[in-house]
Amino acid sequence: MSDCIFCKIANKEIPSNVVYEDEKILVFHDLSPVAPQHVLIIPKVHIESMNELTEESASVVAHIFTKVKEVAKQLGIDGSGYRIVSNCGSEGGQTVGHLHFHLAGGRQMQWPPG
Ligand code: AMP
Ligand code: ZN
Repeated sequence: MSDCIFCKIANKEIPSNVVYEDEKILVFHDLSPVAPQHVLIIPKVHIESMNELTEESASVVAHIFTKVKEVAKQLGIDGSGYRIVSNCGSEGGQTVGHLHFHLAGGRQMQWPPG
C-alpha cells in the first residue's frame, strides 16, 4: 500500500534499525521503545490488522511466530522472558494500519496491560 509507513519501511523507502529480515518478514526497533528491548515484527505484505487476516495470509503469521525465539535470543531476552502484543483497531490501541507484533522485554512486565 503506497501510503503505509510500514510498507515503506519494508520497501526500505523509510530507514529503520533492522534486527532480522527474510523474504517474508522484517524486524526492526520501535522508534519509541516501551522496554529496554522493543522491536516490531511485520509481514512484508500489507495486511491492515488482525481483522483482515485470512486462511491464505495466516501462514506469514505462523512464520513470524517460528522466528520469535531467534529474535528474542538475538536481543538477549530469550532466557529472561518477553511479551508479544498485537494491537487491533482503535480501542485495541493500534496506531499503524499494517499488522505488526510488538516484541518487548528486558524488564518485568505487568498485568493487566493498560
Ligand atoms: P501500534 O500503536 O500498536 O499500532 O504500534 C505502532 C508502533 O510503531 C508504535 O510503537 C510506534 O512507536 C512505532 N513506530 C511508528 N513509526 C515508526 C517508525 N518509523 N519506525 C519504528 N517504529 C515506528
Ligand atoms: Zn502496509
